[in-house]
Amino acid sequence: MQTSSTGSVGAPALLAARSLAVKVRDAAEAFARRFRCAPSWLACAPGRINVIGEHVDYCDGLVMPMAIDRHVIMAASPITEPVIKIFSEVNCEDAAVPLERTIERGQPAWSNYLRGVIHGYRERGETLRGLQLLIDTDLPIGGGLSSSAALEVATATILDLANQRQTPQVEKALLCQRAEHDFAGVPCGIMDQFASVFGRENNLLLIDCRSHEVTPVPLHDHSVTFLVINTNIRHNLGSSEYPLRRAQCEEAAQLLGIASLRNATPTQLDEKSGDWPEAIKKRARHVIGEIARTRRAADLVQGGDWHGVGELMYASHDSLRDDFEVSCSELDLVVRIAGEIGLDGGVFGCRMTGGGFGGCCIAVVDARRAEAVAATLGGRYQGETGIVPTMFVSRPAAGATPLELPLLPPKS
Ligand code: ADP
Ligand code: MG
Repeated sequence: MQTSSTGSVGAPALLAARSLAVKVRDAAEAFARRFRCAPSWLACAPGRINVIGEHVDYCDGLVMPMAIDRHVIMAASPITEPVIKIFSEVNCEDAAVPLERTIERGQPAWSNYLRGVIHGYRERGETLRGLQLLIDTDLPIGGGLSSSAALEVATATILDLANQRQTPQVEKALLCQRAEHDFAGVPCGIMDQFASVFGRENNLLLIDCRSHEVTPVPLHDHSVTFLVINTNIRHNLGSSEYPLRRAQCEEAAQLLGIASLRNATPTQLDEKSGDWPEAIKKRARHVIGEIARTRRAADLVQGGDWHGVGELMYASHDSLRDDFEVSCSELDLVVRIAGEIGLDGGVFGCRMTGGGFGGCCIAVVDARRAEAVAATLGGRYQGETGIVPTMFVSRPAAGATPLELPLLPPKS
């Protein structure tokens, strides 16, 4: 559903947010339609945007994401058979994970995210009960907002709930990361799963990917909000380029003789990289600069300096485009238009978020002008590309949690 916007007729508008209570009610109703009984347990896990600190989590760096109010919601009830029967409401597909044997990768492909988490619990020595389970979501899938981590973390949350466990948060996030590595084949860092587990309302999360320390960065100033602009483009390059970037960063660290680029300084890089391949030098320059920008941005957020934060976001985007080479023309276009709207039009800063090669940009905007910014930005993006962007705003949201069935009237 699209809200009305201040833009002209036909201009892309902001998507309205459904409240969590409504999403939970809808998931419970979908569960009842599918399995002909009420769910015994409900849980949700949010997606995330990364405000700054991109492509540095796997270099032991600092990242500053926040959870958003878009979620994977799960509903489940017990069954006597030793199997977890899964239905995904979005793609109307079933999967079954037998609990009597070793959990292996299988079909459909999306079920591997859940299989990986179930495997992780079994490796911890947990005996799991049989379940029927429904997945609902209002997160764009494959859009760089981490629907995959939300899927894993929601799985862990509902397994905890249904099996009366309380896996410590760091262990839960790491177990989910392992699921993505081993069962989905994506060698991701820790940011996505940490953001989904540790999200906190009205707080960004400064995450030290070396020590796993999570420091909430308060953002109680409601005059700013985050506009997510999905370019609705996904270039296939992403899946092969991501492991390559990871390997290039490891190579740079090796050439510097250090464990990870977290420990490198710009001076060290200048002194030692004279005869390095150009690509390796550029990747290292991005990571070293991005970690410094993230540290500085956390201070500026605390001081309410949104102009300063915005400048760092533009610098981050430039570095991802020129040195890390993970942007694309559509992401660059959004950032360029946002810069042209500028402070006078209510935009503090903008950058790509997530792995790159398409997906989403985020802009920090004046909350009162978010609709107008979206109408202008979306309209111009559509005018230049012919693609309708999907846009919504989010404030920093809470992390994964068990849910109560809300006291809402049923959907007519
Ligand atoms: P992102 O995490 O940025 O959304 P990924 O490519 O990492 O993109 O993960 C997307 C994958 O996650 C999808 O291809 C699908 O396999 C899985 N996925 C996420 N949410 C759901 C869902 N609600 N139902 C089924 N599969 C899902
Ligand atoms: Mg993902």
